[in-house]
Amino acid sequence: MEDSATTTMNPDAFTFFDENETDMTDAQKIECIKESIRSFLKEYPMIRATDTLVLVVFQALKNMLVDKIRFVAVEAPTGSGKSVIGYCMAYCFNYCLHTIYGMDGSSYLLTSSKMLQKQIQEDFKRFSFGEDYAMLKGTANYPCTYMYFEQLAAERSKQKLLGAAASAFASSQQSTVKPDKSTITSYDKRYCIGWDADRKNSLACFPTCQYIVKRKAASDAMCANLNYSYFLTVLNASMNPYFAMRNLTIADEAHLIPDIVCNMFSFEISAATARRVGKVLREIRDTNSKDLMWGSDADRDVEMHLQFSRLITEVDEWDTLFLRRNTTLPELIDYVRWCSDAKKTIVSWNKNVTPEFKLKMGGFIGKFGEEETDAPFPKPVELEELASRPNDVFMKYDESSKYGKYIVRDLQERELVRNKFLSKTQFCLFLSATLGNTDQYGELLGIRPDQYKSYRMEPTFDYSTSPIYQCNCGWLTYKNFSDNIDNCLDAVLYICHVLHPDEKGIIHTSTFSNAELLKEKIFDYMYKSDNGKFPGIQASRFRFYRTPQEKDACVKELKQSQLPLVIVGPSLYEGLDLKYDEGRFNILLKVPYPGIDDYVRAKMERIPFWYERVTIEKTIQAIGRTNRAVDDRSTTYLIDSTFSKIAPKMLGSKIQERLERKYLEVPQTNSKPKKMYSFEAQNTNQNTSVDDLWGDDLPF
Ligand code: SF4
Repeated sequence: MEDSATTTMNPDAFTFFDENETDMTDAQKIECIKESIRSFLKEYPMIRATDTLVLVVFQALKNMLVDKIRFVAVEAPTGSGKSVIGYCMAYCFNYCLHTIYGMDGSSYLLTSSKMLQKQIQEDFKRFSFGEDYAMLKGTANYPCTYMYFEQLAAERSKQKLLGAAASAFASSQQSTVKPDKSTITSYDKRYCIGWDADRKNSLACFPTCQYIVKRKAASDAMCANLNYSYFLTVLNASMNPYFAMRNLTIADEAHLIPDIVCNMFSFEISAATARRVGKVLREIRDTNSKDLMWGSDADRDVEMHLQFSRLITEVDEWDTLFLRRNTTLPELIDYVRWCSDAKKTIVSWNKNVTPEFKLKMGGFIGKFGEEETDAPFPKPVELEELASRPNDVFMKYDESSKYGKYIVRDLQERELVRNKFLSKTQFCLFLSATLGNTDQYGELLGIRPDQYKSYRMEPTFDYSTSPIYQCNCGWLTYKNFSDNIDNCLDAVLYICHVLHPDEKGIIHTSTFSNAELLKEKIFDYMYKSDNGKFPGIQASRFRFYRTPQEKDACVKELKQSQLPLVIVGPSLYEGLDLKYDEGRFNILLKVPYPGIDDYVRAKMERIPFWYERVTIEKTIQAIGRTNRAVDDRSTTYLIDSTFSKIAPKMLGSKIQERLERKYLEVPQTNSKPKKMYSFEAQNTNQNTSVDDLWGDDLPF
């Protein structure tokens, strides 16, 4: 694939059709698009040719290649096969570019969560896509097996030395020592950090290094599936030898783009960065004797010593910036510029140096050059651009930080999305189940109307057996929360214990503290002697989690178990696929408003509709977790009375037709469920083994 140094496309200046000419008429192009879809379906017969698939792909390709529209957004309901639309788009776009313009196309398929990537990975295998489609996760998902291979090699050479007979005798006396898999770390903590290519090549583990193998596969593939965070990081990096801008970007869960971009490009500028530079400088000073020549010739030696003296004099001066609380953005920009220059200068000391200096400091400086700071450190140019829009600057001193830290954020998502995302795409297809008003969505991203077309697909699902009950059990606003939470939690338990005792379900609690309140309530009823309200209630039916690993384990257990388990937590709104019996009821305890802090307040002031828009998006996503197929059914309960404020504004998935008022009165006495389950025996073992962690990614 042609990937090279990072390229950027001006979001407004689109020159594809000026640079690429064709003799084909529009009618011929349309025929080519139709042929590409037929060819895809023929090549992958496992894929069902639904009307939605064919219509969306045809329309998007026609808009892009015939009508010359660069950005197309499609709101398609949950379960309508958006991932398959993505696979088909990648293939057909490539087919059309080849036929119409005689060029090889390539695409990115972007996803937001690990769960979705897992689903896509399974699809790639199921549909036998081969090398044309490849997935690359974040670096932390791949193992560094250096230590394991070292132990393996040591064991093998020991066996060889012993000879066959002695080895057989030795193994009859004691079991063979197996290399310890717990020595495997993740790629981002790799052993070879800072090494040059030749040195890495000499390692026994290099040819099977999973990250390197998978990165190459994704770089070579016609369609690379990346997560947003990886895409934004590599495409915005100054040097990026593997992933350049591609002809087509397919953005799944596209409603999340503004939030993802804003969160990723929120900067933490900490005194720790200069302190690290200072530590490195002092180590260089202490490791080298004064009379050691550093540079390879006299001029270089003088230059390096002068650079060193300047940096070590300046480094401690920056501390004052973090001691006072009134630093301005221009001052911070100077600091960031100094840190970047200092790092570059120190890294440059690995070139044109004496062999003695290289031997003593080479590896150390190389490692310093590759190490990341604790948080994303901005490029000075990014902060300068932000400083040119003073109304969009959010800046705060973080009182909780150990060394002193400022948080700098951009309040205007439109500019950020244009600079960080749109400028890294050529043609882009946005797919989501919750784009809300699609025209407004285009405006939010900062797309010019003449470069944009949007659609909303009507759901094909049968929602007649999937009502949404607005239960009005009490206002869970800040002011009324303590008065009403008991009643709301009772309603939640009534739904689980009395209305759905034999079915699996999900409870969205909005926060961990609400999940804790529910847990306490369950224990309270379990051990109350006069428990007439929920006799026989079992805490072990409910799966609470705290960490992402625990959440994954709970979801896995819920899907595999025959028992009517209920998963409870605040982060189940997106990417969870509970189809048919995996989820028959869906409870939203509280409206998922973003938590209020200084940043959220500033953002609400800057973009007044943002707060309500993200809340509605989250609610619609949550409702979609348990309706995953045309003939699926589930019942949704909105407990908090505050839902009445946003319910009329929820679009798509026939939500307005499904909404029904149903006040839930919890009786003082209930009967015991007819059937009791033995949940305890099925409890999840949440200890994660090394094999669970790395799964398919281990080369043995
Ligand atoms: S090549 Fe891969 S496995 Fe080997 S040390 Fe480097 S990261 Fe680890």
